[in-house]
Amino acid sequence: MPSPRELPIYELESAVVASLRAQGRLIVQAPTGSGKSTQVPQMLLRHGLLDALGGRVAKGEVVVLQPRRLAARMLAKRVAEEVGTNLGEVVGYQIRLESRVSERTRIRFVTEGILLRQMSFDATLRGISAIVFDEFHERHLYGDISLARAVQIQQTTRPDLKIIVMSATLDAGMLKGYLAPCDVLVSSGRSYPVRIEYLPKAVNFENDAMWDVAAAECERVADASVRGDMLVFMPGAYEINRTVQAIQAARGLRDFGCYPLHGELPPEQQDRAVARYETRKIIVSTNVAETSLTIDGVTTVIDCGLARMARFDPHRGINTLMIEKISVASADQRAGRAGRTAPGVCVRLWAEREHANRAPQELPEVKRLDLAEVVLTLKASGIDDVMNFPWLEKPDAVGLVRAENLLVDLGALAGERKAITAVGRKMLRFPVHPRYARMLLAAEERGCVRTVALMAALTQGRNFLLRGVPREVEKAREDALGEEHESDFFLMMRAWRYADKANYGLEACRRLGIHAQGARQVGPLFEQFLEIAAKEGLDVSEQKTDGAAVRKCVLAGFSDQLARRLDAGTLRCELVHNRRGVLARESVIQQAKLLVAAEISEIGRGDGEVNTLLTLATAVEESWLKEIFPDDYREVKGVSYDESIKRVVSRRERRFRDLVLEAKVSSDDAPLNEAAALLTKEVLAGRLKLDAWDDTVEQWILRVNRLAEWFPELEVNPITEADRATLIEQICYGELGYRDIKDKPVMPVLKDWLTAEQFAVLDAYLPEKLVMGNGRKARLTYAKEGPPIMSARIQELYGIEGKFTIGHGRVTVKFEVLAPNHRPIQVTDDLTNFWREQYPKVKAELSRRYPRHEWR
Ligand code: ADP
Ligand code: MG
Repeated sequence: MPSPRELPIYELESAVVASLRAQGRLIVQAPTGSGKSTQVPQMLLRHGLLDALGGRVAKGEVVVLQPRRLAARMLAKRVAEEVGTNLGEVVGYQIRLESRVSERTRIRFVTEGILLRQMSFDATLRGISAIVFDEFHERHLYGDISLARAVQIQQTTRPDLKIIVMSATLDAGMLKGYLAPCDVLVSSGRSYPVRIEYLPKAVNFENDAMWDVAAAECERVADASVRGDMLVFMPGAYEINRTVQAIQAARGLRDFGCYPLHGELPPEQQDRAVARYETRKIIVSTNVAETSLTIDGVTTVIDCGLARMARFDPHRGINTLMIEKISVASADQRAGRAGRTAPGVCVRLWAEREHANRAPQELPEVKRLDLAEVVLTLKASGIDDVMNFPWLEKPDAVGLVRAENLLVDLGALAGERKAITAVGRKMLRFPVHPRYARMLLAAEERGCVRTVALMAALTQGRNFLLRGVPREVEKAREDALGEEHESDFFLMMRAWRYADKANYGLEACRRLGIHAQGARQVGPLFEQFLEIAAKEGLDVSEQKTDGAAVRKCVLAGFSDQLARRLDAGTLRCELVHNRRGVLARESVIQQAKLLVAAEISEIGRGDGEVNTLLTLATAVEESWLKEIFPDDYREVKGVSYDESIKRVVSRRERRFRDLVLEAKVSSDDAPLNEAAALLTKEVLAGRLKLDAWDDTVEQWILRVNRLAEWFPELEVNPITEADRATLIEQICYGELGYRDIKDKPVMPVLKDWLTAEQFAVLDAYLPEKLVMGNGRKARLTYAKEGPPIMSARIQELYGIEGKFTIGHGRVTVKFEVLAPNHRPIQVTDDLTNFWREQYPKVKAELSRRYPRHEWR
């Protein structure tokens, strides 16, 4: 084996050291296998770049962020060997459930949220001299965000911090701009040509299992006497195990040792996959071997073209792993593994014409994952405005809002700034999706951690309890699992225990409509949740559990998916956040009024509408809402005007957030003050009409107002718009509906406006009617502006001359002279003038048209 010092990365050693001495940021780009991950941290150590930085500590450490746990552990082990210490001393690692570090550790490999969490607890990063972001091209969410935080910290509290970003392939342009000023050091490395082969025609893995196809290709290549070892890429543990079996069964591969490599294996087995042997070997691996780990001696790569990828699953509102086609860029990386030490071959288990349909690159995680967990971590660092966080690539605003809203619903954030709460801080203890963190917290209080851990595992995996099974399977299920009415989870738990006891036997599972493989995957997840809980000091022992306590925990984690049955007869529900949905018919919760759905699926109906289907339901009690989310549960009393019955009604509602749990409406007990105000609003808007509020009333108001205007010395208060509302309110007071106010007399209320004296003066000064010189009575019309107008037909005015005044001569009246058909002919304030000037002109024509009238 060549000495590590011969690795290509050493071309860059002096440049790396010089650059980091000159400035704090550096990008290193070199092909996989160059020695980045194992050598660069050692260079920092050897050249004293970790020493006495910032004057804070005598000996600082370098933290190397790795996207994969398996890689972090193996790299730490390798580097410890090279440095010549025991693992956990100078060189250590820290991954989600394992930690091998000590006071003496100078090179620490870590994964996922560990670094970000440390940043949120200590923004000065005590003891850390440098951070290496490895495998950065994979664009894992935690890499992106930890880098942004590191840059912030470097700009503020730790100008001496060194930041190194490393990757095999990288869009260095964008990153260089983001990190500027920053050097980019590139090593092209050494590699040999790799011949790419495709399958002659497309294969459907549903019909021909991918492990059989892969084993057959291994056999074919072995036959073609290509030298060296083989590396087979498979998406996950299950496929890897099947492939290993298929290879071991193949006659043509009997000379090969075959080793699986994936994160769920015990460490010794992982080490076995990278060890060197006398005989040739075939390693069957996940995409950890794509760029994170280099296995020496490989000359043949068999690539199934799939990988398990983390993606936000809107049905479950969490991130899940899904098997997906890898991108062209990933396929090229995988092929490159065959050309490290000699010319090689890469067999792709798909047809060449399919290749062009693959995405050129994977989307960065920030674009495809639920952000709730990182948003919570950012909030813990005091970054409340996550929208303006210096994202390397900004996530969709929708995703950020969704994450914040979920955290608010979980009780982790509160207030206008959506700042972290005490509950939120407690949730951070658990390195899992915030839903599960909230559930575990709730379980801790109620002594049912073990059951809740199982439940969390059940929601995370794929549903293994098949739906729409035949009657006899349903019957068998009922016989084996018993009846259940509280939660679909409880049935699933029993089904899982049954499958587990049956050792996931295909026949036993099939009898009950259980997907054996799906059920099998729950076990490791369950173990993981238990470990996380135990690590945080929760009691994970088997306890007698109370169904209600467990259901409360489900509510704590899924309160954003609370649903209320619209009525007992249907499965239709109303959900918080203004959503509607239909409870799945096969749910065991057929009676409960309130439930939480752990899954919400939107199913297109073809006509463009979507059906929202609620599954994995758990019945909950209303009193629990108040108990667990006291701030979100309210009893509201309200009074409102009901348009349809034209009546003021009182409502008493109980609400959980925006969901009305129950509303009681009564049409005869609204408080009279509020009722009068609401009715008045309707009257003022013209939607309700008081029959007695007629022209006479309006004229009366005008007379009062003009009296106030023309005779200020009387000190009459004018009736303003606001007074008008007060008057209407007085009329409405004591009534609840339009029926009661429609015919209510108006004048009595109005008349109270004036004192008896003012009242008498009003009639005397500004009368409603006027008796004229010829003995006839004429009506006066008052307006907001201008003089009062007396309208009369010509015939009624014969004998009247001159001007007319009222109010002791202070107000001149205008005449509106009307034709016999009541059409106005003239408006004048001097009739003498009219008789002399205008009358003769109109008389001729009018007398012709109305010969029967008197014409003087
Ligand atoms: P890079 O990060 O640039 O891909 P690494 O530093 O991971 O490169 O690996 C450099 C070389 O070190 C590899 O080519 C391999 O030969 C060797 N190596 C790394 N880790 C191990 C290990 N666990 N076991 C054996 N060899 C290893
Ligand atoms: Mg590496």
